Amino acid sequence: MLLYASDWFEKHDTGSHPECIARIQNVNRMLDEKGWFRSCTRPSWMAATMERCQLNHTASYLEQIHEWCVENAGRIEADTVVSTGSWDATMLGVGAACDAVERIARGEERNAFCAIRPPGHHALIDAPMGFCLINHVAVAARRAQAVGLQRVLIVDWDVHHGNGTQASFWTDPDVGFLSIHRFPFYPGTGTKDETGAGAGTGFTVNIPVAADTPAREFLNRLIDATEVFAERLRPDLILLSAGFDAHVADPVGGLTLESEHYEQAGAWIADLARRHCKGRLISLLEGGYHLDRMPESVDAHLRGLTSIGV
Ligand SMILES: [Zn+2]
Repeated sequence: MLLYASDWFEKHDTGSHPECIARIQNVNRMLDEKGWFRSCTRPSWMAATMERCQLNHTASYLEQIHEWCVENAGRIEADTVVSTGSWDATMLGVGAACDAVERIARGEERNAFCAIRPPGHHALIDAPMGFCLINHVAVAARRAQAVGLQRVLIVDWDVHHGNGTQASFWTDPDVGFLSIHRFPFYPGTGTKDETGAGAGTGFTVNIPVAADTPAREFLNRLIDATEVFAERLRPDLILLSAGFDAHVADPVGGLTLESEHYEQAGAWIADLARRHCKGRLISLLEGGYHLDRMPESVDAHLRGLTSIGV
């Protein structure tokens, strides 16, 4: 498995914000202590360029974000802050996602985990939202298509609806988007009748669940719906927006998963990728705000991903 991790993600300095530097510091410490740095392939990679980000974002928005970061603008949206280092951190995260796509497309490895921040799945093509600046999973899906992996399944199990990703592929029948999330909850979208439009009708699948839904029910609904969707889409690659804020201890999420459930979910989705697309799977860190349980959940997730020997 490819593992992308770097202390450069600490350059996105958000102060006392819940999406804080300590999140990635604790993930990196866990990756070291649990042996993931030794057991995984750790490629060197380049930060994404503005041009690469234009696969999903407008040039004027990218210039605006860059300018906000240069100006150390602080709060740029209700929930989102930037510092002078945020541009470098964000571009490195998008670069990780794209590098993983390229290596997997070439057959160097089958799967990858990107321990990156800030998260991306709320980011719109022309606006920041909900702690997110650039939608890395959306850029990665477009990059996959450019290197010959035409049909992409994006699974999003962050506790929040991935509204930005949904919007990017709303009319696209080649990039399927499936999200399970707490509802009603931030950002307010993700009802089950949101299924796409035009040629993309039926290629967006939303599974809203109530607060405190039992973990087993959450997983069963995720698995059942994704299995059916993958049969229909026949993906060449699976991208996972892996948030860990559905954990019972998460200060934000209000759901009930334990760390062990992320191991089960990881093993299942690795097997789904094995059955549909030769194991091609890239997992990207999104949310998860408990400073101990989130890294513990990432560790469990990686144990699941590596458990079936892909
Ligand atoms: Zn989230």
